[in-house]
Amino acid sequence: MARPSDHVDGARLWRRLMELSQFGAHPDGGVDRQTLTEIEIAARAHLVALGRSLGLEPYTDAAANLFLRYSGRQSDRSPVMAGSHIDSQPTGGRFDGAFGVMAAFEAVEAMLAAGLVPERAIEIVAFTNEEGCRFSPGMTGSDLFTGSRTLAEAATIRDASGITQGDALTAVLAADRDVPQRPFRRPIAAFVEPHIEQGPILEREGIPIGIVTGIQGTRRYRVRVTGEAAHAGTAERHERRDAVMAAVRMIAAIDRAASDPADTKLTVGMIEVTPNAPSVVPAEVLFSIDLRHPDNAVVDRLDAAIRAIIEGERGPCAASVRQIQHNPSLTFSPIVRGAIARAAGNLGLAHRDILSAAGHDARQLHYVCPTGMIFVPCRDGVSHNPAEWAEPDDLTAGARVLTDVLWQLANRDES
Ligand SMILES: [Zn+2]
Repeated sequence: MARPSDHVDGARLWRRLMELSQFGAHPDGGVDRQTLTEIEIAARAHLVALGRSLGLEPYTDAAANLFLRYSGRQSDRSPVMAGSHIDSQPTGGRFDGAFGVMAAFEAVEAMLAAGLVPERAIEIVAFTNEEGCRFSPGMTGSDLFTGSRTLAEAATIRDASGITQGDALTAVLAADRDVPQRPFRRPIAAFVEPHIEQGPILEREGIPIGIVTGIQGTRRYRVRVTGEAAHAGTAERHERRDAVMAAVRMIAAIDRAASDPADTKLTVGMIEVTPNAPSVVPAEVLFSIDLRHPDNAVVDRLDAAIRAIIEGERGPCAASVRQIQHNPSLTFSPIVRGAIARAAGNLGLAHRDILSAAGHDARQLHYVCPTGMIFVPCRDGVSHNPAEWAEPDDLTAGARVLTDVLWQLANRDES
């Protein structure tokens, strides 16, 4: 039997990706298409026009998520959704996010070319502000869509120039032409997010398809160590409350604790010293901790260890630890993982299970519907960089798998 993926056109997918990359294109080959900007408004209008040219219905919501709907035979059943995001980092590449959205377009175009209409509708989605660089934190669109944050919370966040995310959303929605808004938290039958790996494994192993098993958990902290400023020449050792020395003891001990198990990712990426003067005993240190591991039990154990170390190593200083983010590790739906494995197997494409070390919109969707991700290789694992690159053949393979996965999921009986 003919498969819808037989109608995937790799050259068309590549052309559409390169067209999208013109919005915010840099001479170095990179893309600066930050969320809710004039550039993103233009890219969004481009996608709406493309969708309409294919007969798809555009929709949005109060988070300016963009949906393009390919109607199925049963309009009363919840849709299957696929896509990612079109915003980028300021020094972004052409594939992060964009591949997921354009692969979903290609899947729908393949079905149209084959004359195939699924039972359920298929909706292409571009979620707002995945990256979180202009308005932090990111994942705004998928958070609001799934209800894990409220619009009121997200609207007050300001960018570096003082513009609120709420005002930026209003401007984007005002620029839409006849794109109706739908409420958040609509029922979704399944969600599939294709994405470049942003890591080196698939390329190194020459495997085009990664079946993402889940997303690694993260805890992020800010630690404040408060001592007392003193003269570097006169203050005696026993009198000192040196915040840097206390912070250094803490960081060294936390690093030792996090060396077991060896695949724990510990990063202290920010250290601020006050007053940061060479001849003054430091009065205060603020440092960050980013802790990740796929096993929640490991992260929870290290959470306790970190708190004990901070208390144990503070010496004469005061110390406080504040957890600013906690995303548990998650395991994607066996329904979607199975569909990806079947599709890749039927197409004779090499595939392997792979864990996502980074967060994606699929994390939020996981909590409301069967969700999965398809990874494709990217050169040297480089992403968030103008040098980001994926081979057209690998992108085509990813789009073919997505097409057959969506076809399977959109014709499933279960709600
Ligand atoms: Zn992304």
